[in-house]
Amino acid sequence: MLESAVSPVPEGVRPDQWDGLASYLADGGLVALTGAGLSTESGLPSYRDARGVRRVQPMTVTELRASHEARQRYWARSYVGWPRFAAARPNDGHRAVARLLAAGTLTSVITQNVDGLHQAAGASEVLELHGNLERVVCMACSSTHRRDDMDDWLRDANPGFDRAIGGAVRPDGDVALPEAIVRAFVTADCPVCGSDLLKPDVVMFGESVPKPLVEQCFGLVEEASALLVLGSSLAVMSGYRFVRRAARIGVPVIVINDGWTRGDGETDLKIEAPLGSTLTALADRLGAPAVGAPGV
Ligand SMILES: [Zn+2]
Repeated sequence: MLESAVSPVPEGVRPDQWDGLASYLADGGLVALTGAGLSTESGLPSYRDARGVRRVQPMTVTELRASHEARQRYWARSYVGWPRFAAARPNDGHRAVARLLAAGTLTSVITQNVDGLHQAAGASEVLELHGNLERVVCMACSSTHRRDDMDDWLRDANPGFDRAIGGAVRPDGDVALPEAIVRAFVTADCPVCGSDLLKPDVVMFGESVPKPLVEQCFGLVEEASALLVLGSSLAVMSGYRFVRRAARIGVPVIVINDGWTRGDGETDLKIEAPLGSTLTALADRLGAPAVGAPGV
């Protein structure tokens, strides 16, 4: 067959799944729901392993708000992790999603990721369910600030701090640190009101996604030809609810994830395969054009 010669079935995907996937996508109009699994090939780990077991216990917003010690812990870890997190670049999966958007295969992307890598790959129409780590918000006066500015404030407050310490960056963009280093860390204050109640402008554990955004996403899912879940275990309700809504109203649910998902019982097609190579082959098969990254 000429087609298979042009776009071979990617590794880990059965030929019948590959043809099924292409037929769901052929007429376009899908909405993608993406999670941390899409960014692992950029060096950012996901929250859960392939069996769905959580790797890290993120700090909740209640803990962060409750004590200065918790904010010391959060910002010390974040300060060490930020250069590594900010250095992450889009991978083949992000580029393929941007191509599928440009081709109209996807109408929009709902992402649970806070890394901005979809946009860095040139994707338009990205709805960030959990916000973006590029921003910081003051819990006292609601002013917002650039994370890069926060980085300058923390550097000024902690001269001589060795940012090369610690292990690998974690999904929230932080790095686990010894207690003594956390205790010695000096936090920054809000430049507007002077409070140290600064938090990343993301939906932390214990917080809810803003209702208007949820409603907007429900509307997109309801109008979609299918919902394409990419690299999410769907373990948290903020993403899983869209799968449930789609399944309930008869919008097909397709999942590509390199492991278990909570929605496995509600999917019309489930493919367990690496995201980058599979999505690139898919974009090639559908003839999606290349997309330039912003500023390139
Ligand atoms: Zn403030």
